[in-house]
Amino acid sequence: MIYVLEPFGGSARRHNPALPHLYFDDAAVTRGDGVFETLLVREGRAVKMDRHLDRFTASARAMGLPDVDTRQWERATAEAAAEWSATNGDAEARCTWTYSHGRASSGLPTAWVIVQGLSPETCELRERGVKVVTTTRGYTLTDTPEWFPGGAKTLSYAHTAAALRWAREQGAEDVLFLESPEGKVLEGATSSVIVVKPGRKLRTPPSGSGVLAGTTQAAIFELAEARGWRCRTRELTYEDLFEAESVWLVSSTRMAVRVRRLDGRKLPGGPLDDEVRELVDAALS
Ligand code: PLP
Repeated sequence: MIYVLEPFGGSARRHNPALPHLYFDDAAVTRGDGVFETLLVREGRAVKMDRHLDRFTASARAMGLPDVDTRQWERATAEAAAEWSATNGDAEARCTWTYSHGRASSGLPTAWVIVQGLSPETCELRERGVKVVTTTRGYTLTDTPEWFPGGAKTLSYAHTAAALRWAREQGAEDVLFLESPEGKVLEGATSSVIVVKPGRKLRTPPSGSGVLAGTTQAAIFELAEARGWRCRTRELTYEDLFEAESVWLVSSTRMAVRVRRLDGRKLPGGPLDDEVRELVDAALS
């Protein structure tokens, strides 16, 4: 069973689980940009409600979502759990709360509560126990375990979305990721970095750990090479950005935008800016 919570403290509305609920442009779908909780339902009641509400409230705050109306979630959960036990008796269930930034077109958050039966495997494992292997988490750039989908453009963009919100709060429009503070340059939040150096040279950091291989950067380099520019994939330092003629963020839809201010410091335009723009235009035609 699904209950959809109306934004800003409205009621919870029962939704037919056989019918679609989310829109194509929901941040939960497009960027995984939201928070969730999973609760156990026993004997018709959600267990540890207060603990879940506390963590959920903190998660939502950390992700820049409007404050959680705890009474609204509590009410919807009680209703869904009661309905569950009305048809399933004392069978245990899983209750999931999901709260996302919602539709890009409306800007309103999306929120819903689901109650569904536990898989037989979950119950069986309580009896049987599990076999386990160890691994690192893959959180740092030097920690890339075998399973880690490095270089894949996955839907897990919640961190990126959070970084962009943080940038906007400070009056900036984009983010440039570094390996460490003032360390090696990686990429923009959703773009590749290209640096123009004196002597018609283009540089971009190597793709791999922490840097997605950009199709725009590749297309620009290909045409630039053909036109006599010297294009190289090289590690770039934070200081290189200030010594360059110009610094650009490039990606499929933005094409190329010049970075004119970095951490509050002005980055001047270069003598070849118009040529770079023409080059990008031609490379993406
Ligand atoms: N790096 C990241 C993390 C991105 O998300 C993107 C595009 O969204 C890019 C680089 C640029 O890729 P492309 O030029 O293929 O659009």
